[in-house]
Amino acid sequence: KNGFIKGRYILSVDVGTTSIRGHVYDKEANIKGSSSEKISLLYPNPGWVELDPEELWLQFVSVAKAAVQAAGLQMKQITALGISTQRATFTTWSRKTGETFHNFISWQDRRASELVTSWNNSFTMKALHGSSKVLHFITRRKQFLVASIITFSTQHVTFRLAWALQNLKKVQEAVEEGNCCFGTIDTWLLYRLTKGAVHATDYSNASATGIFDSYQVADQQAAMFGECCFDTGDVKITMGTGTFININTGNKPHTSISGLYPVVGWKIGQEVVYLAEGNAADTGTAIKWAQGLDLFSDPAETEAMANSVPDADGVCFVPSFSGLQAPLNDPHACASFMGLKPSTTKSHLVRAILESIAFRNKQLYEIMSEETHIPITNIWADGGVCNNNFVMQLTADLFSRKINRPRHFDMSSLGAAFIAGLGIGNISVVAVPISSNLYPSEKITLAPINVNVGPQMIISTPQRVQNSGNILIG
Ligand code: ADP
Repeated sequence: KNGFIKGRYILSVDVGTTSIRGHVYDKEANIKGSSSEKISLLYPNPGWVELDPEELWLQFVSVAKAAVQAAGLQMKQITALGISTQRATFTTWSRKTGETFHNFISWQDRRASELVTSWNNSFTMKALHGSSKVLHFITRRKQFLVASIITFSTQHVTFRLAWALQNLKKVQEAVEEGNCCFGTIDTWLLYRLTKGAVHATDYSNASATGIFDSYQVADQQAAMFGECCFDTGDVKITMGTGTFININTGNKPHTSISGLYPVVGWKIGQEVVYLAEGNAADTGTAIKWAQGLDLFSDPAETEAMANSVPDADGVCFVPSFSGLQAPLNDPHACASFMGLKPSTTKSHLVRAILESIAFRNKQLYEIMSEETHIPITNIWADGGVCNNNFVMQLTADLFSRKINRPRHFDMSSLGAAFIAGLGIGNISVVAVPISSNLYPSEKITLAPINVNVGPQMIISTPQRVQNSGNILIG
């Protein structure tokens, strides 16, 4: 895992949920120049989250140019461009004119939640699973039929696209005329970059839409590649707007009963690498929300605030602005603080929020190791929230495992640069510069316990989250 990118410079642009970041890498994967711009999210109705396609395109171009300029280079010195994007955010546009029919509908958008609920209920296998929140899903793997249980979610493109087809007249007409293009952000950018000549996506983005048979490379997969999680059992945790924990399951997709999602990591030559993914939708979202309430002015302050109190004074926070994902799979779980007292201070609230992020990590890590039965080898962390030593140390304590933290956290961007380098045959091996390792501390104050809270759901989390789980489910 030591090596270099041969050749000249690679530009990589990562379109996240909060910002677009561009980096220029040299042959040793050092960053030579960077640029970033904040993305404006639009909230036209409650639960709706959109992005303006034209604004995104202009920002993409401006970040790419500014990163090259910051590196003191000219565009012609760039050998390849790697693109990594948030997944499952899509738009549709006219094949004739290239004009979009509507804004990007974000992966965070919940306009299709009623549709999702009715589909999940209509395929219920109560006898098998005793819950109306799961459905039995048969998938093909080689010649066998493999049963797994998947809960449809608004995070996949499927039902939001169905919503657009049902509700937007322009889209309906274009479909009837054979004039409707559909695409996730990567597809849209590629379409614009090639002036409409290329309408394409890649395995990683396609496999996260819910409309691709993943049994036959996007931001989480790119981060996995950037972290060099090439071996079965390698795990990475990205904590950005949401948390995404991925485990490399090798050449076989994992079929899950607790809501882990199988995605294609990458396909290089004929080799396909699969990942199982667990997600908590509200990580950075919770930090941003608390910042909006003036609990602090800069997210960097949260670490010192959390450390300024010995504990959260019995307060716990449920980070579920967009429901709770695996293993609870409850789209209606509401975010809440519990255990508030007259003595509760801002620092207690902040500590409770940070703890809840680490507890969700623990929940996801636990189901991942229990379900896949794959011995976990290395664990890497990245994403903006990874700056926070409190969250990172608590996570290492709860996992009782060492966690590697790279020198810079834009692993999606680095992974896309590596893949771009491979694409032009200009890469041999890649390197992840490590900044620090977090080891479990000896003094662990929160003991994990297992509690049965529903017919099919086991929450295995620290005591304080267990309480909120009971309230949410009950
Ligand atoms: P995305 O790729 O989804 O846009 P990022 O990986 O850029 O997200 O992470 C951005 C999030 O990280 C923001 O919500 C920000 O509040 C949070 N963040 C950044 N630094 C810290 C910190 N020191 N402590 C806690 N959260 C932080």
